[in-house]
Amino acid sequence: MAANKSLLILPGDGIGPEVMSQVRRVIDWMDKRRCVTFDVQDGLVGGICYDTHGVAVTDETMAIARTVDAILLGAVGGPKWSDVPRQHRPEAGLLRLRKDLDLFANLRPAVVFDALIDASTLKPEIVRGLDLLIVRELTSGVYFGEPRGIDTLPDGTERAFDTQIYTKPEIERIARVAFELAAKRNNKLASAEKSNVMESGAYWRRIVSAIAAQEYPDIEYTNILADNCAMQLVRDPKQFDVIVTDNLFGDLLSDEAAMLTGSIGMLPSASLGAVDPTSGRRHALYEPVHGTAPDIAGQDKANPLASLLSFAMMLTYSFDMAEDARLIEQSVQDVLASGLRTGDIMSPGHTLASTSQIGDALLAALDRRAA
Ligand code: NAD
Repeated sequence: MAANKSLLILPGDGIGPEVMSQVRRVIDWMDKRRCVTFDVQDGLVGGICYDTHGVAVTDETMAIARTVDAILLGAVGGPKWSDVPRQHRPEAGLLRLRKDLDLFANLRPAVVFDALIDASTLKPEIVRGLDLLIVRELTSGVYFGEPRGIDTLPDGTERAFDTQIYTKPEIERIARVAFELAAKRNNKLASAEKSNVMESGAYWRRIVSAIAAQEYPDIEYTNILADNCAMQLVRDPKQFDVIVTDNLFGDLLSDEAAMLTGSIGMLPSASLGAVDPTSGRRHALYEPVHGTAPDIAGQDKANPLASLLSFAMMLTYSFDMAEDARLIEQSVQDVLASGLRTGDIMSPGHTLASTSQIGDALLAALDRRAA
């Protein structure tokens, strides 16, 4: 069968290569067992790329990143590179990918698996069946706004400042991504901002509300103040389906929502660019939320499920292969139901498993479900 999906795999540092090697096993399985083949290229990013090439990502890798259908990344960074000049720090590789490919929409699902319900610090009845998606604007807002800096007032008082800034097209494009996603899920979207105290918040509300009324009248749309959203997420998270918000509030709310699930080794993410009107394609990068976990790197202890669920997200959002994505997600549930656990999600009565044992169990579950 001819290769029909092109992927760039960037395992990165620390546990990145270990968890991505389990993803490779699933890719190989799909090549053999499903109606799809992947043309995979490998590359370096982060500290390992700095050690090899003196930069956190090379121009050659960036050129490949621009041509492939999707990018899968492990994680970057670690204490080994703490003294590397800022522009070459491992994170600079990830930031360049996000910036050069204009990956403005960050998707962070928070799903509570039944088998892991006790991992949440919230009561089971509050989180059972939780499945929400936070859509965070990733390339603008206060993290990038100018002017920014530290200066001194005429009376000698020092001050620091940043600028929260959003253009109309920036708000419109992230809103449309969120509405489209809501339309494919449960038709519910909440937009979070601080319209009560911020000009940019009031503007955000006005633009998103206009798109809701004009383009998506069938979606149940609500505005919510970001601080109330933070409270509602712990009070009654199941009231939400999709939440769209800016870069700063999205940073906080997506971490908060993630912790409703209680397990960092289980959390996938996607960062999407704009759809090219000619080709219909969009740049997309998929990665686990966790970092390089230097404390357990190289020991076959890392939980590979966040990376495998990121791969499933890729099937859904880049390739419209919802059935195959569901096969992987259900197989993840099978593995958890079998009682196997890596250290991060271990609890009494379960069996401690290595990274590769989880990979073995997942392939066995895929075999069973695809039989
Ligand atoms: P981390 O996510 O790497 O680790 C936090 C804790 O969770 C550690 O105890 C770790 O062992 C555990 N953990 C994380 N992922 C796990 C997994 N898959 N399986 C089992 N346990 C897991 O965060 P940190 O310790 O703050 O950061 C370590 C390094 O990773 C830093 O250099 C940081 O900059 C980098 N980092 C990178 C990314 C990224 O590449 N996107 C994200 C976060 C942190």
